[in-house]
Amino acid sequence: MNKTIYMDYAATTYTKREVVGEMLPYFTENFGNPSSIYSLSRVTKKAIDVSRDRVAKALNADSSEIYFTGSGSEADNWAIKGVALANRKKGNHIITTKIEHHAVLHTCEYLEKNGFEVTYLPVDKEGFISLEALKAAIKDTTILVSVMFANNEIGTIQPIKEIGKICRERKILFHTDAVQAIGNIPIDVKDMNIDLLSLAGHKFYGPKGVGALYIRKGVRIDNLIHGGGQERARRAGTENVAGVVGLGKAIELATANIEEKNAKLIALRDKLIEGLLKVPYTRLNGPKGNKRLPGNVNVCFEFIEGESVLLLLDDAGICASSGSACTSGALDPSHVLLAIGLPHEIAHGSLRLSLGEGNTEGEVDYVLEVIPNIVKRLRDMSPLWESVVKKGGSSNV
Ligand SMILES: *Cc1c(COP(=O)(O)O)cnc(C)c1O
Repeated sequence: MNKTIYMDYAATTYTKREVVGEMLPYFTENFGNPSSIYSLSRVTKKAIDVSRDRVAKALNADSSEIYFTGSGSEADNWAIKGVALANRKKGNHIITTKIEHHAVLHTCEYLEKNGFEVTYLPVDKEGFISLEALKAAIKDTTILVSVMFANNEIGTIQPIKEIGKICRERKILFHTDAVQAIGNIPIDVKDMNIDLLSLAGHKFYGPKGVGALYIRKGVRIDNLIHGGGQERARRAGTENVAGVVGLGKAIELATANIEEKNAKLIALRDKLIEGLLKVPYTRLNGPKGNKRLPGNVNVCFEFIEGESVLLLLDDAGICASSGSACTSGALDPSHVLLAIGLPHEIAHGSLRLSLGEGNTEGEVDYVLEVIPNIVKRLRDMSPLWESVVKKGGSSNV
């Protein structure tokens, strides 16, 4: 088999041809700077407006509440730093979780070094926060709660509407990193009591290097990028017009018939999970069922290293990840797997396969043929495994 099997859609997706098609004229003939006044520029300004409307519609927001950014990470940074700095007089306390993406976690750590106090909520074995723990963590000085919609490593979908309700009742701003949720879960920012929401084009078949932040009307937030008057004077920098156009087209496609797309992904996901769990000493990370992202599979194979599995999978033409794209290559086990209570040695044996629109049942079958052999090969070389086999196969963890 020489065709590449891509199962790392949570790291990034391809850009759909249809999306690229809409983008192309904005590199070539429609290249005017949207801030200029001639008609060449009115075309690009109009294209950005159309895209803004599409994002607003996908979230049930108003177009005036959508701001384009250079990435999902920038949207997260802006939401958290911007709210923290603009509301400093009210308080300096922020609540988030231990399993956020680094774009949120490292931003919070930065704020801690600059006079803010941050509470990192723990999660249970499946990765859910406790609403009671959230309520208990709120103080008079709490200005912001930031909880991700769905986790990029283990697929856990948080009770966002309930979290939003608690924050709204206490008059605390609520931000959610919805980068993994867009296109997988229907989102209504009004119904879900969301004040700020981050998204990124390249996680839903749009281009890389473009994201957006929803900021509910009336939310106090400082600018992150200072300069010209773009994005209604809130985010400086000449617009990535083609990128914005691509993001708008992609979100329109991603939020159409979610149910139908999910049914296909869930069937593939559950087949993959079931097959992988037949490998001895394998555990599933994250929940089962409809509180798990439709395309997410994350397992730990005990007694081996996730990185070694990835290399052998690559030899077999399969693209996967050992956790998040940002941490693979690092020797530290995933902070998410540690937060759900896995010991270091088991967290090291993790494999994430994230499915998307390009995957087929045939590919799942092939992967299920290849993986058990890889795991066996690696275990046969593992001294830990040898001691387990000698002991008669009882796991000590
Ligand atoms: C990918 C991702 C990000 C970062 O988005 P970029 O556009 O790559 O900066 C943030 N949060 C989550 C949950 C992600 O999966």
